[in-house]
Amino acid sequence: DPRLKAISEAIRVVPHFPKPGIMFQDITTLLLDPKAFKDTVDIFVDRYRDMGISVVAGVEARGFLFGPSIALAIGAKFVPLRKPRKLPGEVISESYVLEYGKDCLEMHVGAVQPGERALVIDDLVATGGTLSAAIRLLERAGAHVVECACVVGLREVKGQPGLNGKPLYILVEPR
Ligand code: 5GP
Repeated sequence: DPRLKAISEAIRVVPHFPKPGIMFQDITTLLLDPKAFKDTVDIFVDRYRDMGISVVAGVEARGFLFGPSIALAIGAKFVPLRKPRKLPGEVISESYVLEYGKDCLEMHVGAVQPGERALVIDDLVATGGTLSAAIRLLERAGAHVVECACVVGLREVKGQPGLNGKPLYILVEPR
C-alpha cells in the first residue's frame, strides 16, 4: 500500500523518551498531517467495514485518537478501556505486567453485550501485554474479539501467546 510510507514517515521518533535507551514512536506528528491521519483511519475502515464488528474498543490514551473515527465510519459503538479509577460506573478490571511493575485496564459493565464482535485498537504494540488485558476484558463480557489493530508494531509480536491466538493487524514497523 503506497500510503504506508507516508504514514511511517509522519511518525516522529524521539530518542531517550520517557527514559534513556527508549526510541519513542510519537504519533502526535501523524495527527498533524491530515492526509496521513486520514489514510491511517481509511485503511482500518476499509479493512473492518464488512466484518460484522459492532464494538471498537480503544485503549487509553492513544487508542482514543483512532478508535472513535473508525467506529463512526463502520457503524460500531466505541468503548473506552481506561486506566484504573477513571470510569465512574461499575467496572471489570484486568491487570497486566509492564517492564517495571503492573498496570490495569477497566471497562464499564454493560458497555458490551455477550456475542458482540469486537475490534481492539491502540496506537502501538510492544510486548502485547496491554492488548492481552484488553482482550481478556472483552472476552469476560462475552464478546468475540475479531482482531487487534495498531498503527505501529513489531512483526514478531504476531502470534504472541499473550494475544490468546487473536490476529494482530499492524500498519507500520517502528523506525
Ligand atoms: P505493550 O503492552 O505492548 O508492551 O506496550 C504497548 C503500550 O505502551 C501501548 O498502550 C502504547 O501506547 C504504549 N507505548 C509503548 N511504547 C510506545 C512508543 O514508543 N510510542 C507510543 N506512542 N506508545 C508506546
